[in-house]
Amino acid sequence: MPKEAYRLTKVVFTLGPATEDEAMLEKLILAGVDVCRLNMAHADGAWTRTMIRRVREVCRRTKRHIALLMDVKGPEIRTGDLKAPVDLTAGQLIDLLPEPGRAERGVLAVSVNYPMMGRDVSAGNLVLVDSGLIRLEVISSSPSRVRCRVIVPAKLHSRRHVNLPGTRVRLPALTAKDRADIAVGVEEQVDFFALSFSREADDVDILRRLLSGLKSTARIVAKIEDQSGMANLDEIVVAADAVMVARGDLGIEVPMEDLPLFQKKAVESCIRHRKPVIVATHLLESMIESPVPTRAEVSDIAGAVWSTADAIMLSGETATGRYPLECVQFMKRVAGRIEGSATKGYNADLPLKTHKDRLLRSAVVLAQELGDAGIVVFTRSGLLPQTLSAFRARRCPIYAFTDDPQVFRHMLLMWGVEPFLMDIKRDPEESVRDAFAYLLRREWVKPGDWMVVVTNVLAGEKTIDSIQMRPVE
Ligand code: PEP
Repeated sequence: MPKEAYRLTKVVFTLGPATEDEAMLEKLILAGVDVCRLNMAHADGAWTRTMIRRVREVCRRTKRHIALLMDVKGPEIRTGDLKAPVDLTAGQLIDLLPEPGRAERGVLAVSVNYPMMGRDVSAGNLVLVDSGLIRLEVISSSPSRVRCRVIVPAKLHSRRHVNLPGTRVRLPALTAKDRADIAVGVEEQVDFFALSFSREADDVDILRRLLSGLKSTARIVAKIEDQSGMANLDEIVVAADAVMVARGDLGIEVPMEDLPLFQKKAVESCIRHRKPVIVATHLLESMIESPVPTRAEVSDIAGAVWSTADAIMLSGETATGRYPLECVQFMKRVAGRIEGSATKGYNADLPLKTHKDRLLRSAVVLAQELGDAGIVVFTRSGLLPQTLSAFRARRCPIYAFTDDPQVFRHMLLMWGVEPFLMDIKRDPEESVRDAFAYLLRREWVKPGDWMVVVTNVLAGEKTIDSIQMRPVE
């Protein structure tokens, strides 16, 4: 495999009609995407299986590796069918019916698929329909009828998405479709499952139990996309393996001006807890139609990269957009430019819990002292590279070697980690020599480059932790 430029921020792209053919997939993979997202809101099991196999085949042919992330749809509230779209007007009354019921004279009535809605909302609450396009205010509610006044009107179509900002929604974490999709994902050995609308740690635990019952070692990405998710952020970050700041729904569920603050808070919490974090949605939205981004989008990418988010994500841009390859290339160009401008430094505030953490921090300090040396680390679980990554040492690549293919792919989401799949020998010194040979062969390093190596050493009968400072030979 030819060497790619070393980069810190990873790129997730969403597969869809614009990118599902092999030729386009090959271009995206060669352009350097790290993770392919399958958005189950728009997919069924058969399509998913075909796509997973296709992505793997293109990876095999191009000798590149990307991870697969299945984004399960999660609970969703929708309006019911209408005979024809209705033009709403400001001030108009509309009844949302959580249970089968009759329309009252002169009031438009529309069913909703959330039976508890009448019990969960009360006068003064907001109801947003069609991704926030239509804004309603609740004026009264009973178990069978939620009467609202239209505040911001638009045309109402059938089966539109409903958000209830600030309302604690009592829907199960996983629907029947989610469970069926997850079974497919487990069979096809996807690397990550993203859990939509993670509202509390319990939601993550439900998915964790399901996955362990199915003997899956896939990692869980909790999607933070409503006020409950933000209120319980820290416990969700601790329970999950990674987090996605799902700005699409979050921007509907919270006041829009709060979104940058929430994004910052989520990224900081994830780094503190050493969990990878993905900043998602609208990073290059205008490029769905246009070959060039807006200035604001360039700044948005730069902001996410500056905040040292582990990954930035493309959604509609690569799923249905007209310029998917250009989006990936643009994202990588902007990220590379910003990363290249970073000065030396690392996250000295990372809480240290164990002596191993202190050792890893010393490795980071040493690598910086040596003048941007790389760090070589061996791992069977991915945990050591995950901690090294959380130190965010801006100019010290982390070369992480594992013999486990799925751990290898989990590391594709970690900031600053360049993973390699290699046999790990019983004699640690043999593995160090193999790692150096590997890095030389792939031109990641030159003979004589100084490296910091985190490895065990054999001391008689004992194996002890060590950090070593040594030139590549
Ligand atoms: C989002 O809301 O930003 C998001 C990524 O989720 P989805 O695309 O599933 O709505």
